Amino acid sequence: MAQAFPLEAIKNADPVFGQLSFDNHEQIVFCNDKDTGLKAIIGIHNTVLGPALGGTRMWQYKSEADAVNDVLRLSRGMTYKSAITGLNLGGGKAVIIGDAKTQKTPELMLRFGEFVHSLGGRYITAEDVGMKTEDMDLVRTVTPYVTGISEDKGGAGNPSPITAYGVFMGMKAAAYHQFGSNDLDGRVVYVQGIGNVGEALVEHLCDEGANVYISDICEERLQMVSQRYGAKIYRGDNIYGEAMDIYAPCALGATINDQTINQLQAKVVAGAANNQLASEAKHGELLRERGIVYAPDFLINAGGIINVYAELENYGKTEIMRKTENIYNTTLEILTKAEVQQITSHQAAFDIAKARIELRKREQ
Ligand code: NAD
Repeated sequence: MAQAFPLEAIKNADPVFGQLSFDNHEQIVFCNDKDTGLKAIIGIHNTVLGPALGGTRMWQYKSEADAVNDVLRLSRGMTYKSAITGLNLGGGKAVIIGDAKTQKTPELMLRFGEFVHSLGGRYITAEDVGMKTEDMDLVRTVTPYVTGISEDKGGAGNPSPITAYGVFMGMKAAAYHQFGSNDLDGRVVYVQGIGNVGEALVEHLCDEGANVYISDICEERLQMVSQRYGAKIYRGDNIYGEAMDIYAPCALGATINDQTINQLQAKVVAGAANNQLASEAKHGELLRERGIVYAPDFLINAGGIINVYAELENYGKTEIMRKTENIYNTTLEILTKAEVQQITSHQAAFDIAKARIELRKREQ
């Protein structure tokens, strides 16, 4: 059963409900299991459109408060991602505190699956940072409330290549809006984080002839991706200050923040990472003022959820690709709407997503 664990954040005033990232979340579940060492938090933001679906992230958070903040931000993002993509899903997310390389064991994943199961389908999990398709296959042995299952086990497989394709579509739309052409041939693109999604994005970009630079904290991946696709490894220590056409954040969130925003040389920001703007309102507005076109993260990285949603709705690859390709059109519409209304692109996308949820609420 779900139980509370002694969050260091609880020592501070208002550790959860008072956090800036708390946004009327419906339910937050703290999961603790001494035997396996599992410490996880499941955030259910909103279930108006359907069960809360969102991946599980395993990360070595600096503090428990950081983990709470992350799960609150990520689960909220999922609500609006599914809403703008037209899926009948709510927003949820889980974080497991720990190093996925050294602390992820089958026992820990199974115990996590039991916690997911205890929520009776209000939350459905999938992969995120630190998770693999095999982990979801394992979780599937203890609960049906999991997606992102291997194709040979009846699932839609690894969602990351589909996410990357959607990001590529969103990036092309943003390029069209900014440069008047969606052709990325010769464009200088910096991809920060070349994990599951970043690598697949690099492949699309290199195939199209973009001038791709990659950065990652993992040297092995840098060497592998560089050799495989011919991307150049960025060895500097300040990616934001580099001259480039497109910045593609594909690692963790909040890289557009007070420290980085004024250094940013890119003319387009389009990447896979969730919650790229440390403050949606402030940093979204600063990007707009500087004439930098921002393709909203929760809009363009929806390919993964489109892919896992197929497992629930039983649609196939053709429909997955059609829906994901449509991210191009939606991004163009949102960027145009933002320009006409003189609001940030994030706000333009958010307004549409929120309106869909409000409408459903009224119908219920
Ligand atoms: P991943 O764990 O496979 O890759 C993340 C990569 O970022 C790793 O290679 C890691 O070493 C690198 N990294 C971490 N910190 C870094 C830093 N400071 N600088 C440079 N590189 C750094 O994760 P992923 O599945 O590729 O997801 C990437 C991002 O996209 C995440 O923010 C995730 O939430 C988001 N996202 C993923 C999917 C999906 O389908 N996998 C869907 C939507 C959104």
